[in-house]
Amino acid sequence: MQNSIIIALDGFAGCGKSSTAKAVAKCMAYRYLDTGAMYRAVTFYFLEKNVNIHEVEAVNNALAQISLNFQDHAEHGLNAMFLNGVCIEHEIRSMRVSDNVSEVSTISAVRSFLVKQQKEIGKGKGLVADGRDVGTVIFPGAELKVFMSASMEARAIRRRAELLAKGSDVSVNQIIENLQKRDAIDTQRADSPLRQAEDAILLDTSDLNFDEQVQKIVDMAQSKIKSIAQKNLRGLLI
Ligand code: C5P
Repeated sequence: MQNSIIIALDGFAGCGKSSTAKAVAKCMAYRYLDTGAMYRAVTFYFLEKNVNIHEVEAVNNALAQISLNFQDHAEHGLNAMFLNGVCIEHEIRSMRVSDNVSEVSTISAVRSFLVKQQKEIGKGKGLVADGRDVGTVIFPGAELKVFMSASMEARAIRRRAELLAKGSDVSVNQIIENLQKRDAIDTQRADSPLRQAEDAILLDTSDLNFDEQVQKIVDMAQSKIKSIAQKNLRGLLI
């Protein structure tokens, strides 16, 4: 019986995809892949090294210097983002990175550099991944695809609470401005724009609390696993 699937969670910025994906992975005893953290890590590196993102050679040279991996960290918890052996989990969540990440994510060389690594991580299934192109580009064959959405107000309030919990006091207006800007760039870019995959289930989380949205996805995953098992059994009996 196949009981390990790939769960792809895509959607707009600030819908709570990452925290939801992490909790779903824990419930299912699956691995978790935060693809946004990888775009944030590349952006952080480019900012630190003053890489001119409009120069192809500068971008390619910089990418060649980047090694990314996820590791557990005493302070930053499970699956923290490491860049060249150093934990940058705190740095990549800053507004400075948030303000620049979507522009960096439009660069095709950056996307192919990261998508290759993401596909590799997905081998072996038993994975929950969240991002913008998980169901459309990274894992088009994912057994369960969910497209998360929520009202701008709900998204901004949640993001502000998240940032506050990390010690950063950013106004709701500044957050809304950042979310709107990222949504516009993410949906309009030429390479792998954010869109709902045709076979994705739309989940509006505006009126759901965190536990409810996690439970909904876990229920969808379990019913998907059950239907795959039944289909396989029917195949054996025919
Ligand atoms: O998910 P998170 O908000 O951390 O992602 C940060 C940014 O990285 C997004 O706004 C988007 O521009 C980019 N991204 C992407 N493709 C992904 C994941 C993130 O373009 N799969």
